[in-house]
Amino acid sequence: MTVSATGSALYNTFARAPLAFERGEGTWLISVDGERYLDFAGGIAVNSLGHSHPHLVQALTDQAGKLWHTSNLYEVPQQEKLAERLAAATFADRVFFTNSGAEALECAIKTARRYHYAKGDGAKFRILTFEGAFHGRTLATIAAGGQAKYIEGFGPKVDGFDQVPFNDIAAVKAAITPETAAILIEPLQGEGGIRLAPASFLNELRAICDEQDLLLIFDEVQTGIGRTGKLFAYERSGVTPDIMAIAKGIGGGFPVGACLASEDAASGMVPGVHGTTFGGNQLAMAVGNAVLDVVLEDGFLDDVVRKANAMKQGLAEIADTYPDVVEDIRGDGLMLGLKCKMPNTVVNAKLRDEHLLAVPAGDNVVRLLPPLTLTDEEIRDGVERIRRAAQGLSQRGLSQANGSAA
Ligand SMILES: *Cc1c(COP(=O)(O)O)cnc(C)c1O
Repeated sequence: MTVSATGSALYNTFARAPLAFERGEGTWLISVDGERYLDFAGGIAVNSLGHSHPHLVQALTDQAGKLWHTSNLYEVPQQEKLAERLAAATFADRVFFTNSGAEALECAIKTARRYHYAKGDGAKFRILTFEGAFHGRTLATIAAGGQAKYIEGFGPKVDGFDQVPFNDIAAVKAAITPETAAILIEPLQGEGGIRLAPASFLNELRAICDEQDLLLIFDEVQTGIGRTGKLFAYERSGVTPDIMAIAKGIGGGFPVGACLASEDAASGMVPGVHGTTFGGNQLAMAVGNAVLDVVLEDGFLDDVVRKANAMKQGLAEIADTYPDVVEDIRGDGLMLGLKCKMPNTVVNAKLRDEHLLAVPAGDNVVRLLPPLTLTDEEIRDGVERIRRAAQGLSQRGLSQANGSAA
């Protein structure tokens, strides 16, 4: 064994912050040095119910004492239950469980292609995607996302993805060919910089799909499970997809993903054509069901909307006061973005100095994805930390400080 240049045995693929955590309590993370951080990163929209939520801990530990995994060679009643609950709450009739978002997208892509194949039109396999998209890091999903920096060096790009500008219906129409099978879009782009697809645009996509027998696929891996104040972001636009990929929030920290589809869209997915060893195992399903127990409680999502409004208002005041640091607030629900006037990495590092965790995104945005369970007091605390960071970075703050010193 040789010691690597970075002094670590891990792949050197992540630019990690020099921080490690030992415990989590609700919206707080406690580092190995005992320092407390307010967690507005939420494990990148994964810790939907915060850290060590008692209902999730109970569900996981109860299941851990009984049965972890049997594989999909056998019936998994907890899977049936979670699928039925997701179907009852959405447009979907059928659900396939995965371990990650990228796998949920792979299933969505395969479902769309098989739909046309099963109807005798296997020539339709191409999928339209949008600039700024992020759909995961498998070979197919990097091709779908279309970002050169993720595709480069990994051999021929997987064929079958055509990318057009976001929110450009003329470009969509022009890109459709007899080989087009589906349109894939995030209703609110996450990694791309908290960019909202207008409801009118989603409506037009729906109309095009209906006219031309294309499937509309929504990637709600980041926006799903209450993040925007609705169970799914598509409910805010009133536009229903045929297929939807989810992950992140549904596991609350346990790796769970799912592909949801209407009966018709799933019609090509017959025995033997797709599978997974780990997907939908008993531990994952126990946690997924427990997350839904909480998110579907009466009033939970209304409370997310109320909290999101309070947070957005606090952030808007910061943007007004320090426009040389934050020029705009974007997003929906508790998926908010600070559009930065200076490099977002600088803003993100300054927030960390204030012991507030956030996530950089594309388009020079810093994302805030706190647990949906955060308290009003934690919103005030978080907004105040962000205000202090902005003040510290602002030229205006500097000149005021210099002025008062003189
Ligand atoms: C995170 C994310 C993915 C990929 O999920 P993984 O679990 O990392 O594979 C796909 N789509 C969107 C919109 C995401 O935010």
